[in-house]
Amino acid sequence: MSTSVEKTLLSVLRTIPDYPKPGVQFRDITTLLGDASAFRRAVDELVHPYAGQKIDKVAGIEARGFILGGAMAHQLSAGFVPIRKKGKLPYDTVRVAYSLEYGIDEMEMHRDAVTPGQRVMLVDDLIATGGTAEAAVKLLRQMGADIVAACFVIDLPDLGGRKKLEALDVPVRTLISFE
Ligand code: AMP
Repeated sequence: MSTSVEKTLLSVLRTIPDYPKPGVQFRDITTLLGDASAFRRAVDELVHPYAGQKIDKVAGIEARGFILGGAMAHQLSAGFVPIRKKGKLPYDTVRVAYSLEYGIDEMEMHRDAVTPGQRVMLVDDLIATGGTAEAAVKLLRQMGADIVAACFVIDLPDLGGRKKLEALDVPVRTLISFE
């Protein structure tokens, strides 16, 4: 049975069939972000288990992870770290390659964005295969971060991303799932 937070978030999420290609059900969070109380609720629910803990940084994955991550960092009194597609960050970066459905891509983070031992929360809007989040975990760990948790509004459990992160000893928090 859905909890009230799941019901609230499900009621404002929009699903676009066959976007960006046939067969994909695109879970569009822009409608959730545009609803003041749902946006606040999602951010509150993502951070509440960590309230009172020392979190140094929230790392958001481009681009929707930036929106959620900025709000989460504010709530947690933490700094924010952008994790971006290659070529977008202006200073020295660390870089990691990851697989996409067709081919590979690379993701970057500023080399000085986290320091060894800092406690970091990772965030994106959705976890599917977990390839994107796994690459972000590798980047953060390369710089010595202690990853407290990875948070997502939406889980697509059939695609195995949560299990992939848990196998890397990353606790995963999600708010709603689509089987
Ligand atoms: P993955 O690396 O397979 O876990 O894919 C996660 C990334 O792709 C996230 O940044 C999501 O925003 C995006 N993504 C993957 N599948 C969907 C979907 N069905 N609806 C919306 N975004 C998606």
